[in-house]
Amino acid sequence: MKNPVWQQELAGAVRQSDTLCTLLDLDPGQFPVPPGVDRFPLRVPRGYIARMTPGDPCDPLLLQVLPRPAEAVVSAGYMLDPVGDQKARVAAGVLHKYHDRLLLMPTGVCPIHCRYCFRRHFPHERFDWHSALTYLATHGEIQEVILSGGDPLLLSDARLVDLLKRLETIPHLRRLRIHTRVPVVLPERVNDTLCSLLGRSKLSVIMVLHSNHANEWNDPVRYACTRLAHVGVVLFNQSVLLCGINDRAEILIALSEALFKAKVIPYYLHLFDPVQGAAHFAVPVVAAVPMMDALRTYLPGYLVPRLVRECVGAPSKMTIS
Ligand SMILES: *Cc1c(COP(=O)(O)O)cnc(C)c1O
Ligand code: SF4
Repeated sequence: MKNPVWQQELAGAVRQSDTLCTLLDLDPGQFPVPPGVDRFPLRVPRGYIARMTPGDPCDPLLLQVLPRPAEAVVSAGYMLDPVGDQKARVAAGVLHKYHDRLLLMPTGVCPIHCRYCFRRHFPHERFDWHSALTYLATHGEIQEVILSGGDPLLLSDARLVDLLKRLETIPHLRRLRIHTRVPVVLPERVNDTLCSLLGRSKLSVIMVLHSNHANEWNDPVRYACTRLAHVGVVLFNQSVLLCGINDRAEILIALSEALFKAKVIPYYLHLFDPVQGAAHFAVPVVAAVPMMDALRTYLPGYLVPRLVRECVGAPSKMTIS
């Protein structure tokens, strides 16, 4: 049987800086590949590249994916595990940080490699269903399972069917949340099978997308989101505040407007987590707070995300503004 369209698109993703530069009419010599990058190599689907502006070395989508020499800089205070994931690990691929929410990482694979990713050094292990379900079954306080990763929507339809079926056997579970960048970077994945699978679940299904810039939104992405909304999936978005990419109020305003057009509500704007090799993306909190004031001035309250930071050991994400 032929692979589904989305798997073909994923297989054709660009994995070399040279190729990416050439596709965008940029001189590859301008972007030397930093040493050690092969541990977190470039990966970007062609449909995402098509939304970049050729000839612009500062394109906000390009800067999210292109390895730059600054990644080799070792900065004090920047860590391999900036959010304390290892301390929250309760089983293979399972994190329990917050009271009623359990985070599962059924895959370590992503459709795109974001250079600022706080899990870029994460030692993904083989997910063990048995221990995850045992933990879930014995912790009655858990009402929500969050699938994260990696990107859970890269699992095959068959694996997702299996996963939902198992989760639906847990009587105290009410909600299933999927943290994913797939509808934004690989909208072909949101196909009939996925929509009907999510639409018929007896759990309430929430999707938290990850988009950082309005230029990421085109017709196929909007169509994917509208389809998900149509089958009853509640859609939110989280962004990361990134230097040189979305650290101006007007860019964040345009993003909120683009989200709403696709039936997506802004949820979190994350202050950058200090992950080693990505210090050049950090925006200081003193610059972020006035931006949030501007957002509140120019947008209705429901289109203003919460500016949050993750603090190791805290009982929830910390709201800054
Ligand atoms: C962020 C996060 C959650 C979800 O937190 P919400 O504030 O509910 O979005 C859950 N578990 C882990 C481990 C997280 O990092
Ligand atoms: S898709 Fe998410 S988990 Fe994967 S590299 Fe990007 S930010 Fe990290």
